[in-house]
Amino acid sequence: MIYADHNATSPLRPEAREAMLAVYDMGPVNPSSVHTAGRAARGVIERTRTTLGGAIGSRAEDIVFTSGGTESDSLAVHGAVAGLESKCTLIVSALEHEAIGKAAAHSGAVVETAYLTSAGTVDLEDLASRLKSWDHAAKGTPVLCLMLANNETGILQPVAEAAALVRDAGGLTICDAVQGLGKVPVNVGLLGVDYLALSAHKIGGPQGAGALWHRAGAPLKAVQYGGGQERGLRSGTENVAAIAGFGAAIEAAMRDMPNYQTLGSLRDAMEARLEAEGGVIVTGKGSPRLAGVSNFAKPGFAAETQVMAMDLAGVCVSAGSACSSGKVKRSLVLMAMGADDTLAESAIRTSFGWSTLPSDFDGVADAWLKAAERIIAKEASV
Ligand code: PLP
Repeated sequence: MIYADHNATSPLRPEAREAMLAVYDMGPVNPSSVHTAGRAARGVIERTRTTLGGAIGSRAEDIVFTSGGTESDSLAVHGAVAGLESKCTLIVSALEHEAIGKAAAHSGAVVETAYLTSAGTVDLEDLASRLKSWDHAAKGTPVLCLMLANNETGILQPVAEAAALVRDAGGLTICDAVQGLGKVPVNVGLLGVDYLALSAHKIGGPQGAGALWHRAGAPLKAVQYGGGQERGLRSGTENVAAIAGFGAAIEAAMRDMPNYQTLGSLRDAMEARLEAEGGVIVTGKGSPRLAGVSNFAKPGFAAETQVMAMDLAGVCVSAGSACSSGKVKRSLVLMAMGADDTLAESAIRTSFGWSTLPSDFDGVADAWLKAAERIIAKEASV
């Protein structure tokens, strides 16, 4: 099998597995317990907090562990809106993951859309002009939601520039860095954001662990109540093993980041072959992108059909726009970039990562070209 779906979830790294097994072998671990076993569990969590802080250039104490990216996004959006007593307007970029988009829609705050350029990056001119004439009395604090790297296309966003515009207008920025962590340098100070959402399983950590970093002093209220864990910001017994796995995964991902970058030239060669031999259209070629992501389309060749044909050939990829039920929809991200329906319905995403072998790129291209030849020829003959 060739696994080219790292943006959906990355295989568990051996380092993460080992760290988790070590926790399971510790016996009962409740970090809130004051006895020896509890204190040992607390040690695991605090060491991981320090590791993660080191990876994103933050103080450990500004990190809240959660169950994953969705919860981190939700805590950022709902927690910021509550912290601002709803006196805010959310400016949500047109390419946000549903974990941000739906949290914003359910937050009770007014939501505006930040539009994209055809290059797939947020339109900074439009954002700047909007913020220049911002009516604070009527709209409250502007809160921008802008992801670091898009899950469908891998396109990197000008987060630091956008956050600076928002800061100058007295606003706040929530950055979903779930797909960027461990693949491009992430430094909260350089990004200038106020909240940063992270997830373990996109970098070879386990599912069930994530984190929200927030700038000290940034408005943030808890959205769930209970035992007051994580400084009262996320009640609930911590998933100690998953957090340990997250820590081991981030260490490995930081170590391997130069290797990840080498995927870019292999990806480019794969795209060049698919363009030349299969007539595909690649999205985001001219924009800064994650090295391991390629989103391409063959208009008229349904994304769902491509994904199934690739699966039969032993290659795991996904339609850029697959939702949690596995149903394929038209890609809203591509539509927001100005793509037409035909392109948006025929785009698939391949995403590579730490376990990828150089030969996987040819394997993906071979499988796609064979499937396209067979299916398109068959469709043409009926
Ligand atoms: N944000 C982005 C950009 C994502 O790609 C994902 C997952 O696909 C999430 C958030 C949700 O993360 P999790 O699966 O950890 O809840």
